[in-house]
Amino acid sequence: MVKKTAFVSDFDGTITQEDFFWYVSKEYLSEQALKAWQLYLEGRETHLNALNRIFGQIRIPQKQFDAFIKQIPYDKAFPEIAALCAERKIPFYICSAGCDYYIDRIIGEDIKKFDIHLVTNHGVYSEQNGLEMLPQPKGSPYYNAEVGISKAAVVQKLKDEGYFVVFAGDGPPDAAPAALADVVFAKKMLLKLCMEQQIPCLEFKGFDEIFNYLKER
Ligand SMILES: [Mg+2]
Repeated sequence: MVKKTAFVSDFDGTITQEDFFWYVSKEYLSEQALKAWQLYLEGRETHLNALNRIFGQIRIPQKQFDAFIKQIPYDKAFPEIAALCAERKIPFYICSAGCDYYIDRIIGEDIKKFDIHLVTNHGVYSEQNGLEMLPQPKGSPYYNAEVGISKAAVVQKLKDEGYFVVFAGDGPPDAAPAALADVVFAKKMLLKLCMEQQIPCLEFKGFDEIFNYLKER
């Protein structure tokens, strides 16, 4: 029997072109503000803390911040994939080490319309404290101290439920879920990590390629 398919995707740099922290820092922060990211890359800071330290430095009125978020471009084929998954009853999970505050403002309408499962940190914004990301509660099956959520736990849950899991991502937090998935679409850092760790993967540039793959399955 052919296994039913589930699709799990990263958000930052996968559905959008670049990471949210990159868009934000380019527009509002100094290079100095990105020091925490360097610490993360050197393994001296967790992903969650590094992002919180960067996002915590944003000091602009909420309205302006929201308007900035809403103009961030995302993959044109994303709504097509969402519609295809809804039509074929393919569970579609977006798993992000970022947070719902900006994801909802960029693709929230499609998330509701197409019944997409969003597993991510919860974000709260104020002009006084910037954007703060709160990890999943410790009791959550998807809790992870390093990035706030465990993408690998989401992939494992779907595999345990008997799904053939297709995964798409671009960054270091995507390597662990990629190692568990049945088919991996990778770009940027994840592509490099998959090669180093001998995780079979397909290189991709846009969601149109994943759309074609899912359509043929
Ligand atoms: Mg990413």
